[in-house]
Order: sequence, then structure tokens, then C-alpha cells
Amino acid sequence: MKVQGIAASPGIAIGEVMRLQKIKHEFRRSVAAGEVAQEKARFSAAKEVAMADLEELKKRTAANFGQEKAEVFGAHQMMLEDPMFNDAVLEAIDARHASAEAAVEEAAEAIAGMLAALDDAYMRERAADIKDIGQRLIRILQGSAESAKLTGIVVAQDLLPSDTAALDLEVVTGFITALGGKTSHSSILARAAGIPAVVGVGQAWEDLQNGDTVIVDGHAGLVLVNPGDGELAEYRERKALEQAKAAEIASAAKLEGMTADGWRVEVAANIGIPRDMEKAAAAGAEGVGLFRTEFLFQERQAVPTEEEQTEAYSAVLRAMPDRKIVIRTLDAGGDKQLPFLGTLAEANPALGFRAIRLCLTYRDVFKTQLRALLRAGTEGNLHIMFPMIATLEELLSAKALLREAAEELAGEGVAHRADVPVGIMVEVPAAVAIADILVQEVDFFSIGTNDLVQYTMACDRMNEHVAYLNDYFHPAVVRLIAEASRAAQAGGKWIGMCGEMAGDPLAAPLLVGLGLTELSMNTRSVPQVKDCLRRLTLAQAKAWAGEILTLRTAGEIKGRLEAIAAELAGR
Ligand code: PEP
Ligand code: MG
Repeated sequence: MKVQGIAASPGIAIGEVMRLQKIKHEFRRSVAAGEVAQEKARFSAAKEVAMADLEELKKRTAANFGQEKAEVFGAHQMMLEDPMFNDAVLEAIDARHASAEAAVEEAAEAIAGMLAALDDAYMRERAADIKDIGQRLIRILQGSAESAKLTGIVVAQDLLPSDTAALDLEVVTGFITALGGKTSHSSILARAAGIPAVVGVGQAWEDLQNGDTVIVDGHAGLVLVNPGDGELAEYRERKALEQAKAAEIASAAKLEGMTADGWRVEVAANIGIPRDMEKAAAAGAEGVGLFRTEFLFQERQAVPTEEEQTEAYSAVLRAMPDRKIVIRTLDAGGDKQLPFLGTLAEANPALGFRAIRLCLTYRDVFKTQLRALLRAGTEGNLHIMFPMIATLEELLSAKALLREAAEELAGEGVAHRADVPVGIMVEVPAAVAIADILVQEVDFFSIGTNDLVQYTMACDRMNEHVAYLNDYFHPAVVRLIAEASRAAQAGGKWIGMCGEMAGDPLAAPLLVGLGLTELSMNTRSVPQVKDCLRRLTLAQAKAWAGEILTLRTAGEIKGRLEAIAAELAGR
């Protein structure tokens, strides 16, 4: 059987399916009197498993994302032992003969309800934690695998950030998800980890059973279920060829990003946590074009302190003191809800209160981040970037606050760097339309294609039903990139790209031809994009870009770029 989905992360994986189960709600709700003791024993056994799982998650998260993020699982362990929760579960089993699952669900819901009604933001946050614990216990009672224990090809309806954080990327070799698009969290993570992935397979995910052999073709977005010997042999051979080619490209990864005729294009990394710098340097990244600072704020009750933030930003700058490091200010809201802001019900979160809009409202939170950035600026070549700019006023307000932060620090005699270059993400079509105005007020532009495509094509980047529109090769998007680049060049400023398109080797000739001089991407793509640049000349890239601007559809553009890639590969 073959299943067509969306190609989310290239490569070929061959392995066995392991499903990440969502909890099933059709469990028995009550048991016979004679089963009460057994249900209590099941609860207590599930608790032990949960405790051990949380311990494992804590260790893994500490190693991958730092001690601070790991603490949430320590808090979960404490809540698992909480007498109020335990008494409520045991009483429901004893007094009402509830099944262990039902008792856990009721107790967790009741306590969560109580906490959610409190006036204290910290306690309200605990409501989400107790629900999470309830879900974990029910999953264990239903005999489902924990995300932390998955191996092989992970099949899930969707992978939430907490699921993906828990995956052991050493033993997970591929992803298949029912939901999601090319730029959903799980896809970005898969690409960053170099794991082939197919997303958006829809209902077909129901048919994939544990133990099925599958081939994940992350190039074509295809899943082959229980393939025949011929298909297996063919894909094994393709996989071996890919590995050999990747080894060859990796061996040249430390060379400068440059075209064959010596035109310099910086090939930088997108990072999410300071620890990513090791991988970025190893992959040959020549700096950072996007440091998403959201990680510092997620899963936290309170805003991280200025000291904490200064330390995190300094760590990144210190890792590459001679390179350009672009740190983006907080891009919260939308699909990245932050606990300390509470939950905001918005009909259209992507069009709502996020990024710079939110920061210009929570000015104290924003100012703290700006102060921390300026303090860290003494450690290297810092560039500050504001997300989601749509108006000149937003940009001017953000810059005014940055100046205020610098003046405060100067007044307090705190060491900082006041003349940090400032840029904006070009990710709202309005910013392209007024790029000639905005360029007067910035040092650089960086195009965020993930959002630029979403807002240009009016298609939710998370919604697989409109995935056909989510295509950075659409002429509308390509023309906006060209327009932004023209404005940047006319204003004498550099322009780069940090959206996912920048890491697509197919796009590189086009982007260079359109005048971009910095491409920032997931670290895995760095060697490949550099390899592509080395096969190009600037004059040729410009000619190709001019030709591509006349094409009429995404299909035509992609087809032309594939032909160009094939020509380049032969050099
Ligand atoms: C983008 O929108 O292209 C981008 C890089 O930002 P994010 O994916 O964090 O929204
Ligand atoms: Mg964005």
C-alpha cells in the first residue's frame, strides 16, 4: 500500500512503525465490587511507571534543552505524589467503584478545575500540569507507549512540542503524522534533526499498525506500507547513494559560503537554544541568522530575569564571537502561547496578538529583553531583529524602547553595547509593500517565508487542508521576495532570509539571483546549500532569477529550479 502525504523532511527511512497513541476515551468507567483491589493496584503500578518515565524525561530534557526546562517534569513528579490527588483517586475507586482510568480522569479534572478558578496565575498554571499527569497515567493504564520510549518510525496523529521534546532522536528514524504541514513544529524538528518525515497523511494513519514495515520517502512525501522485496531493494540502494553523497558534501562544509565566481553569501544557522551552537559550528554555519528566543519564555510561570536572559544571549555570542549573530526579540502569541500571559481566546491567533504587537503592549517584558540583549552585545557581533513588523510606527516604537533601554543602562553604569545593528523580519506582506519606507529605519531585512507565505496566500501554515497553497515557490511569494530585495538594495542595506525556504537547496540559485546575501537555515542544510552555491555564478543566478520571475505557477517555478539543480549537480 502507498500513502501520499506532504514531504516534510527529505531523506529515506526504512523501519518498523511505532504508534504514539492518543488516549482513548472509551475506557470502562466502573468496575464490579470484586475488582476494586485490582483497580487500586493498577493505579499504583501506573504511578510507578509514570514516575520512572518522568525521571527519564527530566534527564533527556536537561541534556537537550537545559536544566530549567527539565524542572517542569520534577514538578510533575511531585504532583504525582500529591495526597489530595491520590486520595481523590483512591476514594473514587473505593466508594464509587470507578475504574482506575475514570478515577484518575475525574480527580485530575476536579483538581484542575479548582486550581483554574484561583486568582493566582501560578496556581492556574498548575491546572495544566495536573491534567497532563492525568493523561500520562491514563495512557499508561491503556498500555500505550510513551513518546520517550519510541523507536523506529514514529506514527502519530500529531506531534506536539512536548511530544517531540521527549523523543529520543538517536533511535527515532522517521516520522509520519496525520496532521501538520511543511512548517508545523514536527516538520521543522524533523528537518533540524535530519530525520525523514511525511506529514499530513490524514485518515491513512489509522491503518498503520505497530510492527508494519514502512518506507518513508521524505522527498516525495510518500509512505510505502509493507513494501515488496523489489521496492525494499530499490529504496535501500537509493538510501546508500544518498548517504555517500551526504558524506562528500559534509567534507566540504567548512569552506566559505561563496559562488564559483567568488560572490560571498553568508550561510548561517537558525537556532532555538544556546546549545544548538555546537551543532551549528560543526555543520559549518557562518553565524546565526535567527535565534528564536521563545524557548526562554516557554513553560515558565514568570518572565525570565534580565540576568538569565543576558546569560543565554551571551552564551550564543561567545560561541562565535567573530560572526554575525541575529537574535530575534520575543515572537510569542499565535501558536506559541506563553503561560505567563494566560490564555487568550482569539478567533484567528495567527492574525492576532503576537510578536511585536504583544511586546509593544507588554513593554516591561520587552524592555527587559532589550536590556539583556544590549548587555550581551559586548560579547560579540550582535544584531537585533524585530518580528512581524507591519507598520513604520511599530518599528519606530520598538527602536525608541531600545534607545530607552540603552539610556537606562548607561545611566546605571551597566556595561552594554548601544550601537547594535537593528533589522526586521519581512514576513507580513504589508512590510514588503512599504519596504522602501522601512528600509530607511533599519540596518537589514530578513525574510521569514514561513509567515510570508501564510499571510500572502491566506493559508494557515498548520492546516493540511490548504497545504497546496503553502508553497514558497508560488510566484506571488517569489515576486514579494524580489520586491523586498530591490528595496533593500536601493536603500543600501543587506537582505537575508531565515524562513524555511532559505534551507532549500533548490531555492538557492533563485535567492542569490534576487540579491540575497545571507541565507539562514536549519543546520543540517548548511553543507548542502554551500555545495549548491559553489556550483553557481552570480551572473547566471541573476539571469535565472529574471527568467523565473516571468513564470506563472509554483509548479513551473519548481520545475525550472529542478532543471537548474540537475544542471548544477552535473558540474
Ligand atoms: C518565518 O516566519 O519564516 C520565521 C522564520 O519565523 P517563525 O517560523 O519563527 O514564525
Ligand atoms: Mg515568523
